[in-house]
Amino acid sequence: MADKSLTPEQQRLQLLAREFTAKHIIPVAAEYDRSGEFPLFIVEEAKKAGLICNAVPTEYGGAGYDSVSQAAIVEEWAYGCAAFATTLGGNGLSCYPLLIAGTEEQKKLYFSRIVAGGLGGFALTEPGAGSDAGAVATTAKLEGDEWVLNGTKCFATSCGYANIMIIFASTDPSLGVKGLSAFIVEQERPGLTVGAVEHKLGIRSSNTVELLLKNVRIPKNHLLGKEGEGMKIAMKTLDMARPMVASQGVGIARRALDEAIKFAKSHLDVNGKPLAANQSIAFKLADMAIQTEAAKQLVRNCLRLKDSGLPYTKEAAMAKTFATDTGMRVAADAMEIMGAYGYSQDSVVEKLVRDAKIQQIYEGTNQIQRLVISGIILKD
Ligand SMILES: Cc1cc2nc3c(=O)[nH]c(=O)nc-3n(C[C@H](O)[C@H](O)[C@H](O)COP(=O)(O)OP(=O)(O)OC[C@H]3O[C@@H](n4cnc5c(N)ncnc54)[C@H](O)[C@@H]3O)c2cc1C
Repeated sequence: MADKSLTPEQQRLQLLAREFTAKHIIPVAAEYDRSGEFPLFIVEEAKKAGLICNAVPTEYGGAGYDSVSQAAIVEEWAYGCAAFATTLGGNGLSCYPLLIAGTEEQKKLYFSRIVAGGLGGFALTEPGAGSDAGAVATTAKLEGDEWVLNGTKCFATSCGYANIMIIFASTDPSLGVKGLSAFIVEQERPGLTVGAVEHKLGIRSSNTVELLLKNVRIPKNHLLGKEGEGMKIAMKTLDMARPMVASQGVGIARRALDEAIKFAKSHLDVNGKPLAANQSIAFKLADMAIQTEAAKQLVRNCLRLKDSGLPYTKEAAMAKTFATDTGMRVAADAMEIMGAYGYSQDSVVEKLVRDAKIQQIYEGTNQIQRLVISGIILKD
């Protein structure tokens, strides 16, 4: 059943994504998790279902859904598999910077390419620059009418397959974060190569790669926004992306709760009664349900603010922190309820625990979210 607190159109999209997940993700998630193979097929299926580039306005060929709908869709995908959700939802990371700072010409040109290919990338992180984006060492130098980019990016989601990437580089390293700029780089540019592929604990079938830039030449008009606006663009992008990561946390928590309930109702305790007949188990399930619902509502509240044009940076950081911590905690609780069966690789809960961890780390660790939140509440 769709969530009745959503509008009829949001409910339609929630059900569409739920059916899509049941048909295309759940049946193959464990197999892709084991092999670590990238599920390129899911991008084509998402295109057919009208579930690709959900943040891109319809005039540029995207789905143009509101933020609450986008989050509801990501939540359904993550219910099936967080790696698939990272691949399909992570696309937003390349679309948001264009929405934030793209000129009309840039939007027309590059949205059409991202929509056609189905995958875009966002490369900010470097070996020496994770939480501290100001330490980016990749450089961009203007030579005539071209920018020349040099450096190494790492942990770049989908960048082994993305046809358009937003790459952050410094045009003046002496300025720190103020020297950071964002550039639109096409996959086929000479000098841009994909380096090592990461093998990960969780979201194993998502594509996480190193990007090597050696004298990558791009036209001057591939600068996104103004020179020196890179940090501002990156932070606004992360504001938009964090509620989507939060939705992955909610999807993981919902799946873990469903698996734990199924187990607690069918598995018998030492007295021959279902586990769920023990109040300690029933109360734990109730707590898991409370946390999952609270996480979902925190995400929705934040996105309703966003869709109303109100500030939502603090709420995005809160939703990301609470929902991803909830995903981790509820998955671990489900494993506890299921005992050895939850720990076995035959159990989906074992995968949920592994997939939940990264949600607390990427798009700003939950410690960095607390820096954002405390910075705002202490200033008010
Ligand atoms: C699977 C995966 C996909 C990713 N996808 C992308 C992507 O598409 N694009 C991209 O640009 N990046 C991506 N990342 C990178 C990710 O966003 C970073 O890993 C993350 O921001 C943290 O940076 P770091 O790993 O360098 O940790 P560090 O910054 O080195 O932090 C290490 C630890 O120190 C803590 N810490 C750091 N600074 C502070 C502080 N001031 N106060 C308190 N604690 C602090 C952190 O919370 C963390 O616990 C991805 C990473 C992974 C693993």
